[in-house]
Parts: sequence; C-alpha cells; structure tokens
Amino acid sequence: MDPVGIAAGAGPGAAWQGKCPWGAPNTTSMSCSLADVMSEQLAKELQLEEENAAFPEVVAVAEGPFITGENSDTSSDLMLAQMLQMEFDREYDAQLRREEKKINGDSKVSISFENYRKVHPYDSDSSEDEVDWQDTRHDPYRADKPTTTPRRGFIGKGKDITTKHDEVVCGRKNTARMENFAPEFQVGDGIGMDLKLSNQVFNALKQHAYSEERRSARLHEKKEHSTAEKAVDPKTRLLLYKMVNAGTLETITGCISTGKESVVFHAYGGISAIEDKVIPAECAIKVFKTTLNEFKNRDKYIKDDYRFKDRFSKLNPRKIIRMWAEKEMHNLTRMQHAGIPCPEVVMLKKHVLVMSFIGQDQVPAPKLKDVTLSSEDMKNAYYQVLNMMQQLYKECNLVHADLSEYNMLWHDGKVWLIDVSQSVEPTHPHGLEFLFRDCKNVSQFFQKGGVAEALNERELFNAVSGLNIAADNEVDFQEEIEALEKRNEDHVQNHGKKQSMFSSNGDPPIYDE
Ligand code: ADP
Ligand code: MN
Repeated sequence: MDPVGIAAGAGPGAAWQGKCPWGAPNTTSMSCSLADVMSEQLAKELQLEEENAAFPEVVAVAEGPFITGENSDTSSDLMLAQMLQMEFDREYDAQLRREEKKINGDSKVSISFENYRKVHPYDSDSSEDEVDWQDTRHDPYRADKPTTTPRRGFIGKGKDITTKHDEVVCGRKNTARMENFAPEFQVGDGIGMDLKLSNQVFNALKQHAYSEERRSARLHEKKEHSTAEKAVDPKTRLLLYKMVNAGTLETITGCISTGKESVVFHAYGGISAIEDKVIPAECAIKVFKTTLNEFKNRDKYIKDDYRFKDRFSKLNPRKIIRMWAEKEMHNLTRMQHAGIPCPEVVMLKKHVLVMSFIGQDQVPAPKLKDVTLSSEDMKNAYYQVLNMMQQLYKECNLVHADLSEYNMLWHDGKVWLIDVSQSVEPTHPHGLEFLFRDCKNVSQFFQKGGVAEALNERELFNAVSGLNIAADNEVDFQEEIEALEKRNEDHVQNHGKKQSMFSSNGDPPIYDE
C-alpha cells in the first residue's frame, strides 16, 4: 500500500481544494510525515501480527466480517460456543473449588471434588482422547434421529419449502440435541434460548462432550481401580489415619504385597501401648480387600467352619470380609500361644489387621520359595515345618489350609508361618482334605529341595494328624480321608453342631471310636 495515498485519503477535502487539478502542495496533509505514517502502518501491522498469534480465530473473523458463507459463520459460532463453554466450565470449577474449600476447611482429611471438574488438568494420556471418541460402539449419540423433519426430507410448499438442510431448522435442532449429551455435560441454558448451532459447531461440541465424559470416567475409574487394587478406599484410609493419629502407628511407609484378597503394608510402630502391650517397632498391616469377588471362592472355608457358621448366613459381604480378618487374628493368637513362629497380633479394626513385621528395616523376610538355603538350613527348615504342622494340629487345633513355600517366611534362621485367615479346625467338613493338600505342598517342596529325610505326603499326613491311614496310593488315601470326614459329619449331625467325635477338651479329633 502506498503510504502517501493513505495520507491523501486521510484528508480528501484538503487534497482537492487547490485550482490546479494536481493541487498545490498540501501543507495540512504534510503535517503527518512519511515516517509517521510508515511507523503507524508498522505499528498496525505489528499489532495485527500479535493479535494473529494470540487469537487466530478472532482475527480470521475480523478480516472478513462481511464475507458470507458457511465457513466464517461457523467459525464464529464455533468460537463463541467454545468460549462460552470454556467460561462456563471455568466458573463451574471455581464454584466447585469454593465448595471444596468450605467443606474441608483446615481439616487434615479432605474430600476431593476432582472427579467433578470440567476443565481437567492436562494428563499424560489425554492424547488417547482423539482416538477414544471414535470408538462408537457405545456412542450415546448414535441413537439420535431427526424428529422435526418428516421422512420426505422437507416441509412447506413452493418457494417456502424448508428442507432438513435449512440452516435455521438444522441449527435449532442441533441446539435441542444438546439435551442428549451426557447429563454431566453442562450445556448451560443454551437449550432454552433460540440458539442455532451449525452442524460443525454441534459436532465439535458433541466430540468435546463425549471426550470429556470419557476422560472423566477414566479419571474416576483410575481412582476407583487403584483404590480397589490397593484396598485403600476412603474408609480404609480413614481407619489407617486414625491408627496413626492415635499413636498406634508412627508412619505407614509403603506396600509390601498386593494379593488377590489382601494388601499388606509396612509401618513403623507408634509409642502408645495397647493394653499394656508394647507395639512392635515394625508392623505389617494386612488390609483385607473389600472388593468381594475374590472372596466368593473362599466360602467353603468359612461357611462350614462351625465357629463362624451361625454368623455366616446372616452377614452381609462387608461383614464377611471382616470375619476373614477376625479369623486370621484368632488363628495367629492360637499359634502365638503354642509358640509357633508367626506374626504377633497388634490390633484388629474392621478389615484391617495390624501385626508384627517379619523382616527388618522395611525389608520383609523372603518367602521359602524365594530363598536359597544351604542343605543344612533346608533340612532344619523341614524339621521345623514338620514340628509346626504337628503343633498347629495338636495344640492349636488348626489346619493351615494354604500351607506352601509361598506362606512361609525365612527369618532369623527360622521358618515363620503367615497367612492363616483361611485356616480351619481339623473337624471342618473338609479339614482333612485341606491338611492333605498342605502335606502334598510341603513334601514336594522339601523333596525337590533335596531333603532326603522328607516324608512323603501320606506319611506326613499321618505324622501330623496321628491318624493311621494305611492306603499306599493317593487315590485310596484321598478316599479314606473323605470317608473319615463323612463319618465325622454324620456324627456331628447326630450329636449336635459343636460335638465332634473327639474329646471335648479342645484336642483335635482322633477319628477312631
Ligand atoms: P495373601 O492372602 O495376599 O497371600 P499374606 O498374609 O500371605 O496375604 O501376605 C502377603 C505377603 O505379604 C506375604 O507373602 C509376605 O511377603 C508379606 N507379609 C504378610 N504378612 C507379613 C508380616 N507380618 N511380616 C512381613 N511380611 C508379611
Ligand atoms: Mn499368602
């Protein structure tokens, strides 16, 4: 552009005042120097550039406000809608933050509204969104059918004919369809107004709504999942927090193990004693998972355990899980009394069992399956296990029922028994079968480990139970075990629930009449 031309244009009256068609040199117009004009132009250009960078869409619209056609119309609609939506989301979040603050105050325990946020902070896998919304298998919008335009695709007559492609009709319809967005998606009060959304705007909003919904769901899921995974749902967290607050625990340092049914944490013991008992320096916290699925296949252990039988049928699943924790506590206590190396119970709160930590400096003792023992140690370990099984049976009146190299730890040159929540009394309808299974695991482990003295499973079973089952093969042996169980069951049926065929002085069953 010619700057002088602009200068002349800026003062047209002055430019044509002189008689000469070319006019006299116009002093008024020269009051604006070429340099000034140039710099003004430059400034304008710079500003334009800046605006371009900051608000590309705004400038795009500003450049051609009168160019009609879908594109410009849509882009301004789209932009407006997005800006409105963004503003709305921001206000919504701000309000959410205020409420969150009001509720939580200075409390150490806080409730998070994170999942309800509209504008989610950028998270690393948000890039998935682009793919996510294309996954139309569960597309909630797919069911949308245009309802305002009849089948033939138009309404009206002659030149007043209106097809479904009519911008106004279509726009209104799109606005109405916003109602079909997920309920969490804030559409503001646009629906109530006579808003016309172009297809492009509508589609962009739809995508946005859907991806936000997915993102929200995923964030939520992630949290739910991780809490289920680590068993630290808010209620459990509160329980743990209370233990720390009460001084029972000093700090909870981290997770030792995540199993199907439980999560085990390490913690340093606190200073306040419980019932005059000093809290161990290091503790293990076993949190029984409150997700129920995994416990279903455990029914058989507890359902037929007469100690819990009466209660079992009346309980809801949450309470049944507490019962597992309770069972582990009782069994550990019995073992402790018999002098079997095992964790010492510190306290039980609902589905959370605190016990002494087997290991040192946050490092748990290795499982027998993970430790390489010298043949000497291996042999020692075997005899310890044999003794423990006998003690468990005779003195504690218990069968471990999940005994294997996975549930025995090697610590201080000793074998320690853990994981006894499923342990049952030998008179349990399947107690002897469980014992036989334990014996199989133990025999196999030590025989494979090179302990020549290790009894085979049948010998071990007899040595532990004091029963003399003569069968020399597994099938017959198993049959005899089941026959014994049956006899005992019948006996119990005939003589009342809690009377087994053995003396009532608490000794395990002898099984011969
Ligand atoms: P699960 O039912 O999940 O097998 P366990 O009681 O066997 O539960 O505990 C899982 C793991 O946690 C164990 O294999 C062991 O490594 C660790 N663990 C459990 N209790 C203790 C404890 N008192 N001291 C040290 N480690 C423990
Ligand atoms: Mn275990």
